[in-house]
Amino acid sequence: MAIEKTLILVKPDGMKRKLSGIVVDRLDNAGFDMVASKIVSVSEELAREHYALLKDMPFFPNLIQFIKGDFHGVSDRRVLAMVYKGENAVKGIRAVVGATNPEQAAPGTIRGSFGRICQGNFENVVHASGNVEEADREIKIWFKPEEVVG
Ligand code: UDP
Ligand code: MG
Repeated sequence: MAIEKTLILVKPDGMKRKLSGIVVDRLDNAGFDMVASKIVSVSEELAREHYALLKDMPFFPNLIQFIKGDFHGVSDRRVLAMVYKGENAVKGIRAVVGATNPEQAAPGTIRGSFGRICQGNFENVVHASGNVEEADREIKIWFKPEEVVG
């Protein structure tokens, strides 16, 4: 079993709907440890860097606007960024988060409980790194080394 770190974001839809506490509760209850957290107002540059691997997807422009909070009010451009740590944390937290499409996410997962599709866009509440390489890349984008404990 490997001890891993992974990046979780409560996206602007989750922040607007006051779901940050529920997300933290679910992750804590799954047995993982929060080792970094902060509120970030997402710039165009940060959004593009975070989603760089998806730059050729048809939904990329919408994705950038979404994570910046363009669809959830200009005065409410907040994302809660966190790092969680634990045994097999990347896969384990993806299981707590659920499938990308909220309508296909299993009941009881975060996305299955709270995600929705709004005007064709997935409003799936959270981001969680997809694999260990993505996690390492993403944690470096969102956090300075000294902001992550342990
Ligand atoms: N996304 C979308 N439509 C799609 C696939 C993805 O709007 O058909 C969005 C969705 O917000 C998703 C994000 O793009 O969370 C990143 O896509 P990815 O395939 O990495 O899914 P995730 O890792 O978030 O489950
Ligand atoms: Mg992904």
